[in-house]
Amino acid sequence: MGGRLNGKLAFVTGGSRGIGAAICRAFAAEGAHVVLTYGGSKDKAEALAAEINKAGGKAEAIGCDASVMGETARVMREVAGKHGPIDVLVNNAGIAREVTLAKLSDEDWNKVMAVNVTAPFEAIRLAGELMNPGGSIISIGSILGDRAPAPGLGAYCASKAAVQLLTKAAARELGRKGLRANVIQPGPIDTDMNPADGETADLQRMMVPLGRYGKAEEIGTVAVFLASDESSYVNGTTIDVAGGMTA
Ligand code: NDP
Repeated sequence: MGGRLNGKLAFVTGGSRGIGAAICRAFAAEGAHVVLTYGGSKDKAEALAAEINKAGGKAEAIGCDASVMGETARVMREVAGKHGPIDVLVNNAGIAREVTLAKLSDEDWNKVMAVNVTAPFEAIRLAGELMNPGGSIISIGSILGDRAPAPGLGAYCASKAAVQLLTKAAARELGRKGLRANVIQPGPIDTDMNPADGETADLQRMMVPLGRYGKAEEIGTVAVFLASDESSYVNGTTIDVAGGMTA
């Protein structure tokens, strides 16, 4: 195990699967105490926490439905109340709905906004109160926060644009408190949300100069950098981790 995050308390939303799980593993391997949330995947979240603890790290899983307003704030308060100030906040939990705007239901629009934007807002709003100076906020946006390259992505793209700017606004407002806030915008990453053998996978691969999907671990390493003091002057910025797709 490395030690770049020794002694740091990390709160990772949606840590049960995919990119969130990879970030939790990477953080724990660098010495962080990881508190991860799950929505529907309780078993996976608890199994991941057990795996990390068995390997000598420190992790726990907490249920938190990010689509329910107030839940993220409630759980974040609970975590800080139990363990003390949070050092690293990762807004990762996310969902996508692929429906054209004309056919998008109120329900789907609200759900995408609730999970992808409102939950990060709730966490960021509490950051000044519940995070340690020197702390780091990392939001997992998407390269689709800067573009809408195909029909059916409207709600998702709008939510990822919003979370990008919300995070930059946090950087503006929280810098004097010693907090940094940055965005990671992944390109195609092989997870349940966007499997490398999915219907549009070949098309996505074609658009990536490296010619392949990214692995969740390749987001984890960038998150470790942003969480650690190695990035102490990196603030209010967006890092695309997309194999060159945005070149
Ligand atoms: P997955 O679908 O594999 O995982 C999504 C994660 O979010 C799960 O841990 C899930 O937890 C959690 N989640 C979803 N809804 C809720 C909810 N209501 N409450 C709590 N947790 C919830 O997706 P990825 O790992 O691929 O996505 C992670 C992030 O990366 C998202 O923000 C996504 O938009 C972003 N991203 C992904 C890309 C990709 O190509 N994969 C590209 C660009 C960005 P549970 O199962 O417990 O509900």
